[in-house]
Amino acid sequence: MPEHLNLVDGRACPAAEGHTIEVVDPSDGQPFATLPRSGAADVDAAVRAARAAFDGAWGRLTATERGRVLARLSALITQQAESLAQLECRDTGKPIQQARVDIAACARYFEYYAGAADKLHGETIPYAAGSTVMALRVPFGVTGHIIPWNYPAQIFGRSVGGALAAGNACVVKPAEDACLTPLAVASLALDAGLPPGALNIVCGLGVEAGAALAAHPGLNHISFTGSAATGTAVAQAAAVNHVPVTLELGGKSPQLLFADADLDEALPVVVNAIVQNAGQTCTAGSRVLVERAIHDAVLERLAQRFAALRVGPGTRGLDCGPLINRRQLDRVTGLVDAAQADGARAVARAAVVDDAPAGGFYFAPLLLDGVAPSHPLAQREIFGPVLAAFAFDGEDEAVALANGTPYGLTAAVWTRDGSRALRLAHRLVAGQVFVNNYGAGGGIELPFGGMKHSGYGREKAFEGLRGFTTVKTVAIRHG
Ligand code: NAD
Repeated sequence: MPEHLNLVDGRACPAAEGHTIEVVDPSDGQPFATLPRSGAADVDAAVRAARAAFDGAWGRLTATERGRVLARLSALITQQAESLAQLECRDTGKPIQQARVDIAACARYFEYYAGAADKLHGETIPYAAGSTVMALRVPFGVTGHIIPWNYPAQIFGRSVGGALAAGNACVVKPAEDACLTPLAVASLALDAGLPPGALNIVCGLGVEAGAALAAHPGLNHISFTGSAATGTAVAQAAAVNHVPVTLELGGKSPQLLFADADLDEALPVVVNAIVQNAGQTCTAGSRVLVERAIHDAVLERLAQRFAALRVGPGTRGLDCGPLINRRQLDRVTGLVDAAQADGARAVARAAVVDDAPAGGFYFAPLLLDGVAPSHPLAQREIFGPVLAAFAFDGEDEAVALANGTPYGLTAAVWTRDGSRALRLAHRLVAGQVFVNNYGAGGGIELPFGGMKHSGYGREKAFEGLRGFTTVKTVAIRHG
């Protein structure tokens, strides 16, 4: 089996203790490669390499030069897009067309931040007579990046692209279930001219390598993307060293459908928002809130769409691939079983193709009605292709339902009434509100992040670049 290695100080290396993790193809459940199972010593070596690069060759580059390196990396990703997409498809099980979108987005993150690198600047501040005060935007130094398995290439590009453009040196701990595209893109970064040590990748388990990175006193900032529970653990570990953290966590995002909505536009988007990546998207639209007057008609139309979806191996390019692993399959199945035992009604279900490999982690997309708003299925992130429908009467009830979970990541409003759309955009508690469209996972140029238990701090866009800097005030008394 191919043995993938860490990337530390520009060199490919196994874990210091020699342990490995099997890489499993979610489409058939079979291992096809190994990864290093790194520990604290590997993380420490990576942090030291990053510090040396920050204090050395990488730290000496101008913003324009940093941008040029990232632009070359973006071009290399684009040149290798098809092989990277095949790798992403095998590693995560996602349909190949989604993997292609993800690789294009990864290239686009580096392109965006390449252009932004030398447009970021500080301010001068009017102060006492005979003084000049500058508020400089400076990189933190060494940044840690802990990323999840659902969009490894995209989230790698989003987080590392912003951090490198701002001048930081990075240590990345990808998820144990999906490390292959981050490793491949990091290797391309060396070809693009990134100095060794500016970008290091340490693979391993969350509780081992991830915990060691979160607790490392040599970091100056941590960007964490993952579940709310792990986000708490990472923020607690970082707090010991007073290291600031950006938390990009989960969601329970609602789609609000009013009776005046253009349903021909809305319904395909509503279905895609929960089926894309088998529902394993932080911004998955896992709740559809429907104005009562159109509830039955909408459910009938959604049911037809769900019943027509086809599920199978990622390489087949169907509507939906497998879930990432057995644990995730058991989790989703358990939540759905509990909801049905408590009265939820299956309105429609997709089908897994007959010849899908028996060992794959398939869960056919499911449309549920009659879930109590307080039920765990309506409150917790499901991270599977399960859409729960709820009826509402009027804007107040719609807003109460929409805001009635611990999360606040994204929301969508579908209506032809412009005043209502604006009213709701203000009332919905979410980091992003879409009106008559929904951008699950996309939007490199749009500031992104959560409210409430969906996290804090922002990535993507220029806001993400600022998020990887701090401010140093220089006050000069010159008379
Ligand atoms: P997870 O929290 O289990 O793991 C995320 C990362 O944290 C992995 O790299 C994992 O190895 C690491 N980790 C696990 N335990 C750790 C610990 N104790 N200390 C340090 N690191 C640790 O999440 P997941 O299951 O990989 O991903 C799914 C979650 O990610 C969902 O909740 C989803 O909503 C969220 N997510 C959020 C966004 C966003 O931008 N808001 C994007 C994608 C995914």
